[in-house]
Amino acid sequence: MIDFATSSAANVSWDLSELFVAPDDPRIEATLDRLNLDADEFVRAYRAKFAASRGPSATALCEALHRYEALQEVCARLGYFASLSYAADTTSDQNRHLAQHIEEALTSVRNKLLFFDLAWLALPDVSATRLINSPKLEAYKNYLKCARDMKPHTLSEPVEQVINDKDLTGLNAWSKLHTEYLAGLKFEVTQGGITKLLSQSEILVLMRHPDRSVRKHAHEVFFGTIKKHSQILTFIYDTRFQDHLVNMRLRQYTSPMQERHIANSVQPAAVDAMMLAVERNMPLAHRYFNLKARLLGLPKLEIYDQYAPVLEIKEKISYTDAGARIIQAMHKFSPEFANITQQFFEQSWIDADPRPGKRGGAFCAGVTPSVHPFILMSYNDDLRDVMTLAHELGHGLHDRLASEQTLLNYYPSLPIAETASVFAEMLTFEELLSGMSSDKNRLALLCAKIEDSFATVFRQTVLTRFEQLAYAARGEGRLTTERICDLWLHANAPYYGDSVSMTPGYEAGWSYIPHLINTPFYCYAYSFGQLLVLALYGMYRRVGAETFVPRYRALLAAGGSKTPAEIVAGIGMNIDDPDFWQVGFDELARFVGDAERLSGTVTAAASQPDAAHP
Ligand SMILES: [Zn+2]
Repeated sequence: MIDFATSSAANVSWDLSELFVAPDDPRIEATLDRLNLDADEFVRAYRAKFAASRGPSATALCEALHRYEALQEVCARLGYFASLSYAADTTSDQNRHLAQHIEEALTSVRNKLLFFDLAWLALPDVSATRLINSPKLEAYKNYLKCARDMKPHTLSEPVEQVINDKDLTGLNAWSKLHTEYLAGLKFEVTQGGITKLLSQSEILVLMRHPDRSVRKHAHEVFFGTIKKHSQILTFIYDTRFQDHLVNMRLRQYTSPMQERHIANSVQPAAVDAMMLAVERNMPLAHRYFNLKARLLGLPKLEIYDQYAPVLEIKEKISYTDAGARIIQAMHKFSPEFANITQQFFEQSWIDADPRPGKRGGAFCAGVTPSVHPFILMSYNDDLRDVMTLAHELGHGLHDRLASEQTLLNYYPSLPIAETASVFAEMLTFEELLSGMSSDKNRLALLCAKIEDSFATVFRQTVLTRFEQLAYAARGEGRLTTERICDLWLHANAPYYGDSVSMTPGYEAGWSYIPHLINTPFYCYAYSFGQLLVLALYGMYRRVGAETFVPRYRALLAAGGSKTPAEIVAGIGMNIDDPDFWQVGFDELARFVGDAERLSGTVTAAASQPDAAHP
């Protein structure tokens, strides 16, 4: 039977009043007016100075960067208030209008400020190098250097302004349509004579139900419903892909991934080496899927079995318990980390209530160094939700530690952005594992951890391969639903191999993944982050907390002030070494080996009653 019980996180919602009190707060308009005046003043103060042939002095540039950060700070407060309100309830007209209004207003401000970025790019190399190396600008060195990497791909100021304006009704509108359309879909699930209309996040939970018939039904309903909307979903994806290709042509990128690599400050060779390492290790995934089929008593897994709970343990963890366990895990690692994490619960920085109309998925929004982060997720009392909560709290911790940076150095680049989140999951996992009373429960938890790591390492690389295929195909012409489905299955085939059947319906698995629409090639950063964390965790186990914690803290506190390679080098690792990636797989193989060993004892003792869970 499907359990329609309400979540223990019902009514756990965030308090955004630190930003603004409501979508109709009059301070919003007042702040926008002030921002526009300040932006005009900034233009008057610096446009001429930067147009001079030798460029500004280091002192003038430093002062300008401070003022630029102050303006960006206000933009971030307005932008985040609108987008967070919208994420919390995408069905509210008021939120929708505010999001649209703020987006338009901020685009107009950004267009005013655009000259500043462009003037920096227009400086001759000799002047730019002089400024980058000036001791007065030491704090902005990485920012200035990375910005110059965009020079060959940046267009003239009027063209950039037109692109910004047209994106409002173009790219951004398509993204929003994708979000709203999926948030509005209802999935009609019937079980035991009861029929209910579920949201996307609610039905996806059923794909992890212990009862196979429930999972199968959820799979059929979910993909059956999605496929009814394939015309519009295909149109959105096709348009998105083509938009990206047009962008690539106009900005003279050599590949659809180049823009993301530059934004991530990583070398393409490092990403290629990582993806090849992931694919080389796919037999490890097959080995685990075969074990799981055995544990579930099935000849072979169907796609809807891949996240079934092993051994039918329906462990429910309340939201309050989850928070306590995560804080406990953090405390064993570092009391400072635990204290920071605790604040999220005490001060209503988390929205965990799984209500309809709320955006799907989970995120942590690090607003600015002067404002604390906000976390959104839908907590449904599953073990997996504990991990999602730990993940987002890891992001939150990272943001808090990086708040010693100024705004332009605050946001970590994507490959580093997933480090603290995944590391927090590892700590939480070890904490939960140590509290398990039997091999049976330990095995169940270990399997959940392996599956989660696989979803991050293998699946995100699959998604990246899918994007590569889709962009190549779109280059040849308009994409049909059938074509995208084929590419999707093709990209997934090496991961599932002969061990998991890609059940009919799954070919539409691409249609609801926000990253594919919102940020092309975002996903490889997940594989990158997970493998990096597995390597870091291995180091932590080897050298102990006393040596490791200060180094790790420094890694997080660096925020976005250095490139990923520099940040990781600070802890003694080299991501440009192709062999580096194998370290993480050795840790994963250890997990799979442990699961295999435990499955032997658990299978042998299966007829014995479980003392902890009679
Ligand atoms: Zn994350």
